Amino acid sequence: MAGRSPTMIVTNTPAKDLAYTNFAYCNPSDLRNYVVPGSKLAFAVIGDVSVLSIAYPFNKHLTDLSHATCIISSGHIALNAIQRRHAKVSTGDPISVNRFIPPENFNLALLTLELEFVKKGARDEHVDAGLLSQQIRNRFVNQVMTAGQRVTFEYHGNGYIFTVTQAAIEGQEKSKGIERGMISADTYIIFEAPNSSGIKIVNQREAASSNIFRHKEFNLQSFGIGGLSAEFADIFRRAFASRVFPSHVTSKLGIKHVKGMLLYGPPGTGKTLMARQIGKMLNGKEPKIVNGPEVLSKFVGETEKNVRDLFADAEQDQRTKGDQSELHIIIFDEIDAICKSRGSTRDGTGVHDSIVNQLLTKIDGVESLNNVLLIGMTNRKDLLDEALLRPGRLEVQVEISLPDENGRLQILQIHTNKMKESSFLAPDVNLEELAARTKNFSGAELEGVVKSAVSYALNRQLNMEDLTKPVDEDNIKVTMEDFLNALHE
Ligand code: ADP
Repeated sequence: MAGRSPTMIVTNTPAKDLAYTNFAYCNPSDLRNYVVPGSKLAFAVIGDVSVLSIAYPFNKHLTDLSHATCIISSGHIALNAIQRRHAKVSTGDPISVNRFIPPENFNLALLTLELEFVKKGARDEHVDAGLLSQQIRNRFVNQVMTAGQRVTFEYHGNGYIFTVTQAAIEGQEKSKGIERGMISADTYIIFEAPNSSGIKIVNQREAASSNIFRHKEFNLQSFGIGGLSAEFADIFRRAFASRVFPSHVTSKLGIKHVKGMLLYGPPGTGKTLMARQIGKMLNGKEPKIVNGPEVLSKFVGETEKNVRDLFADAEQDQRTKGDQSELHIIIFDEIDAICKSRGSTRDGTGVHDSIVNQLLTKIDGVESLNNVLLIGMTNRKDLLDEALLRPGRLEVQVEISLPDENGRLQILQIHTNKMKESSFLAPDVNLEELAARTKNFSGAELEGVVKSAVSYALNRQLNMEDLTKPVDEDNIKVTMEDFLNALHE
């Protein structure tokens, strides 16, 4: 541990009304050494287990110590009874206090708290998980929580103690070894209340879906996807929050995994790119991609069989590995080809119905599989059979629309990146201007513009009299003029 580790004498918390706080107190001059820059809190490690936040009395900003209302004499640290128990110290004990330097990526992704009453007020015993977690995040933001730590907290006139039963930092949700971290605006909090506590937790499920991934910034550009980070964040929150957390957590929440989603919007906007990326992120390998018209067969019953075959691997895995089965992601492009709504098929044979049914039984019917995620894609959502879009089926539906100017710029950057690195891109090329001039272009069309500009540049280097003559590579330059020519094609 860096820095000095002075000894302080433990005293009781100085004021009665501090009994319901989680803060330890010490003299401002002692505090100065422990303040974490940019934060109104200081952290200390007492012994080797406890991480306590030290705040000035009544949680005043440390920069404004003139508001001090209760001074603890220098060299003392005031801990309440719970904190003393936690740190295994008594009043009068000398303890050594280390400044706590939070490591990088120390934000908690998940915090599980067990609630008990310490003081029951007049209010009812229902605890709204969404509201309470918001309160806890606001109040304890930037504070370190350690598994096993007990914290007193007042909410709606009731006094609670919560015990931290699980604390997991970002990116390591699945590992059990991580036991402490700092509460952030994104920390997802799960409440547990033993039956004997008399507390009823409500709205935990809503809290889960609205809080996770709310502020997550996804850098999709590095995956070659431009302009779709808001859509991606939306998909992630709605469809995958439940898959990122371990099953014992999701089962406590009563969350069922999303098994189907639909990406819809004009062609060439990046739906396939997105679906692929999602697949890779969720199970680290290329997902299976099929195409509606390919699956469709003119022979009776053959299409249904093709649909069944798509799920064969997943079925086999579920049979042999049960809960341990890996996730099978099936990307279904042009899903409208096989799942048209009844009104739109005029043959009256009911063939489409049986294909739709075949698909549905695998997602939420009698043969339903828990280890599949079906990502349907279509340019024509309006053609789809309504039955496919109900909850439990392709329930998460996200529109992927044409890129805005900023999105177009990102897409142009992505597709010119290589030539920029190899200095084939002339310095006069102004991508911002091109983005401004390509309103209503899809990603695929922008890619087409880049390809066409390249063809103009290459053409300049060709010697039409002697096509076998080697090209002068160093002279290849794609210029703004090439792009403008491409735009006017
Ligand atoms: P969709 O599935 O929506 O019809 P695709 O994802 O197949 O469209 O896009 C076709 C091609 O167009 C992609 O392979 C990519 O090169 C380019 N493209 C489309 N949208 C984007 C985007 N948002 N960012 C980068 N490239 C894009």
